[in-house]
Amino acid sequence: MNMTASGGRKTSLRARIREAGGFYQWFNTTLIRLAGPAQLGEGRGTPCHRCGADKADHVLVDGELHCPSA
Ligand SMILES: [Zn+2]
Repeated sequence: MNMTASGGRKTSLRARIREAGGFYQWFNTTLIRLAGPAQLGEGRGTPCHRCGADKADHVLVDGELHCPSA
């Protein structure tokens, strides 16, 4: 019987999501870290802290916010 070692040192994304309190919580936390907390009543929001462009001009690719002029 050839048993493959699972649950090793490397924490899988699934485990990290579970530790964060479920997918929704993880998604929320990740989104907030990437895009900042929701800015209510600010229209297009605050400018990007990296490139200075409006957040609305950025593209969300695979959960990552990409600067328009990167
Ligand atoms: Zn940017």
